Amino acid sequence: TRADLPPLPSLRESIRAHGLDALKTLGQHFLLDPTLCMKIAALGGHLADFHVVEIGPGPGGLTRALLQSGARSVQAVEIDRRAWPLLEELQTHYPEQLHIVRQDALKLDAAQLSPAPRQIIANLPYNVATPLLIGWLRQADQWSRMALMFQKEVAERVCAAPGMSAYGRLAVLSQWCADCSIALTLPPGAFSPPPKVHSAVALIIPRPEQPSPALFRAMEQVTAAAFGQRRKMLRAALKPIRGSILLEETGIDPTRRAETLSITEFDSLARCHLKNSR
Ligand code: SAM
Repeated sequence: TRADLPPLPSLRESIRAHGLDALKTLGQHFLLDPTLCMKIAALGGHLADFHVVEIGPGPGGLTRALLQSGARSVQAVEIDRRAWPLLEELQTHYPEQLHIVRQDALKLDAAQLSPAPRQIIANLPYNVATPLLIGWLRQADQWSRMALMFQKEVAERVCAAPGMSAYGRLAVLSQWCADCSIALTLPPGAFSPPPKVHSAVALIIPRPEQPSPALFRAMEQVTAAAFGQRRKMLRAALKPIRGSILLEETGIDPTRRAETLSITEFDSLARCHLKNSR
């Protein structure tokens, strides 16, 4: 931080000065403990090698930690205009490193992003966390790593193994594209105000080889059908996408249920579905 400037106010002071009372509609639960924020930033590894995109910086606790950890740049995407002046104040201390993107993260497109190699590190707004993740997985080759705070149930759905009740569409799409693990679990009291649920940070590391956009769409169709009726046998669940042919060609037993299939078996189904729909 720059020596010629007065020190940054504490997060609580910043929140008070800018009237940033947490809004439920924007999923605002703030992290005010600098040690915890540094712990999350550390999940990015050697940040000096990366440009970081942070979704929903809010009062900027995690943003400060990312900047202090030496990230090459931090692109902070915030929809709440009340937080913008607060972030601008932080920017005076990190004029080269911090970029504020004043918009809805759901409408962010690839052309707006900082250059590669890049990571996403964020305490996500829980109401839009799943659509955001699926959007990033569609273009997983854009990201070296993601460290994402979700509500704990969602982090478990990302990381679940076959046979677990949390195993479903999100697990298959995530683990098909990336190595996924839960890095950190936090109780409601870690946030201000505390949410109703526990939270967890999922570490998602995309693999070098990624499916083509067409294959990704095929996988979305296969998993939507398979888990749309998860209690049914695959024979019935996959009917809308001509499942009998898929099951025959892949040699997967039609009496099995979606939750028992490995990622590799889903991969075979998606490839077969893409080939047949051409
Ligand atoms: N990163 C801050 C922290 O850890 O203290 C705040 C995290 S809070 C869980 C979620 C943040 O995302 C809020 O600042 C909220 O305004 C912002 N947000 C909500 N919906 C958003 C959207 N669609 N696009 C960008 N930011 C959004």
